[in-house]
Amino acid sequence: MSTFKRNPDEPLESTALPTRLVHAEPVDASGFKSQHTPVYRGSSTFFSSTAEQRRPVDPLGIDYSYGLHGTPTQYTLCKKLADIEGTLHALVCPSGLSAISIVAMACLKSGDHWLIPGNAYGPVWSFAHNLKSRFGVEVDEYDPMDPAQLSNQIKPNTKLIWTEAPGSLTFETPDLHQIVDIAKSHGILTAIDNTWSAGLVLKPFELGIDFSVQALTKYQCGHADVLMGAVLGNNTDTFRPVEQQNRLYGLGVSPSDCELVLRGLVTLPVRYQAQAESALQLALALKDHPAVHRVLHPALPECPGHLNWKTQFTGSASLFAVQLKAEHTDAQACAWVDALRWFKIAYSWGGPESLAVVVNISEERRKRFDESNPGGGPIVRLAVGLEDLQDLKADLLGALDQVFTQSTK
Ligand SMILES: *Cc1c(COP(=O)(O)O)cnc(C)c1O
Repeated sequence: MSTFKRNPDEPLESTALPTRLVHAEPVDASGFKSQHTPVYRGSSTFFSSTAEQRRPVDPLGIDYSYGLHGTPTQYTLCKKLADIEGTLHALVCPSGLSAISIVAMACLKSGDHWLIPGNAYGPVWSFAHNLKSRFGVEVDEYDPMDPAQLSNQIKPNTKLIWTEAPGSLTFETPDLHQIVDIAKSHGILTAIDNTWSAGLVLKPFELGIDFSVQALTKYQCGHADVLMGAVLGNNTDTFRPVEQQNRLYGLGVSPSDCELVLRGLVTLPVRYQAQAESALQLALALKDHPAVHRVLHPALPECPGHLNWKTQFTGSASLFAVQLKAEHTDAQACAWVDALRWFKIAYSWGGPESLAVVVNISEERRKRFDESNPGGGPIVRLAVGLEDLQDLKADLLGALDQVFTQSTK
């Protein structure tokens, strides 16, 4: 209940009301202390003089010259994100996908060559094909689990090696040390989609990776109600082109959305930990079910690249997949997901609600995936939320029993 009392000793402003409504000073905020970052808005941001307006600014630092570049709300978020990953530079952009595309645009030009792992987040491929068809950027897929083969795919014009750990949908963890060594020996930049770790359980800059990309939409927001992305970097020379691309496209994010993500960050470590613990328990509960071929969770030995996960990560996330046995059909996988009560059918992850989707991967990728481990059928991806663990376990196992007992009748 906010009330206001005018100081009777202060004379009333004599200017006209419309002018006062535009120019009145806000109340004195100096006695107000709070840990929360206010939503600072403003497209026009005032300079105190023409000299200040004309002075050169470093776009990599705080630049209060125009709202698109940021207000204290956006910059406070960037500062916290850089702190999480222990690095120098951070910028926020409108989505995880835009974070990916500006890194690609900053590193590649016509005639350059980009290597992307087969298990990269799907829209990376769509963006790469766009670069290829419109700008003549060469794009090749590499097997993230076969670094020796990666060495053979490097060309004189290779400028960027993309990585994701673990990979989207199939959860293989690559040997990032080896990939970075190969890239560095050829002077090639590396980037990682580090969304799964939220920057908490994998530190890309300690591994020598040049760019870390986050879909803040997931854990950092944490409440499934904001879309945002971030790029982090530890080298001013290589980060400058990323900032330039962001600026050239006119990409900005709303300070209100930044405030929500800042609010999410306060609870990020405990949410991440709690959801990861539930996910691991569910993975263990599912792995021996008779309908299940294997659980693709990096912390389980049966998941490809488990040893890489063990040496490179300090924890796991709440996103993993369950591969049913080969004799089970896609329709049965769908029936399982449809029968779930607490797991909603939706994309994204890192929010409070548990989610499930039947995974769709290309036939070619599927064939390669099966070569190394035959006997697997449909794959269902699970994102574990903040519900009670026993409720989630009963939901998953109950629906599995329901679908697979019915089908054998
Ligand atoms: C969701 C996701 C993205 C894209 O994030 P958006 O904010 O939805 O654009 C990128 N990479 C990974 C691994 C993701 O899961």
